[in-house]
Amino acid sequence: MGALPGVVGSMMALEAIKLLTRAGAPLRGRMLIFDGLWGESRVISMRRREGCAICGGIHPASPSAQ
Ligand SMILES: [Zn+2]
Repeated sequence: MGALPGVVGSMMALEAIKLLTRAGAPLRGRMLIFDGLWGESRVISMRRREGCAICGGIHPASPSAQ
């Protein structure tokens, strides 16, 4: 189980490098689910929810929202 954070951290670092270098297809709008116990991974699509403070584009703490 101790290896799981390393695996997920490496995947996150790879995504950051992909975004910075504009290489490949980033997971923007998608979520990768990794199941280390069964050695499986899958990707699901995500959509922004209007009105959501996290993904909906409304950020109450930002100066532009006040
Ligand atoms: Zn949201």
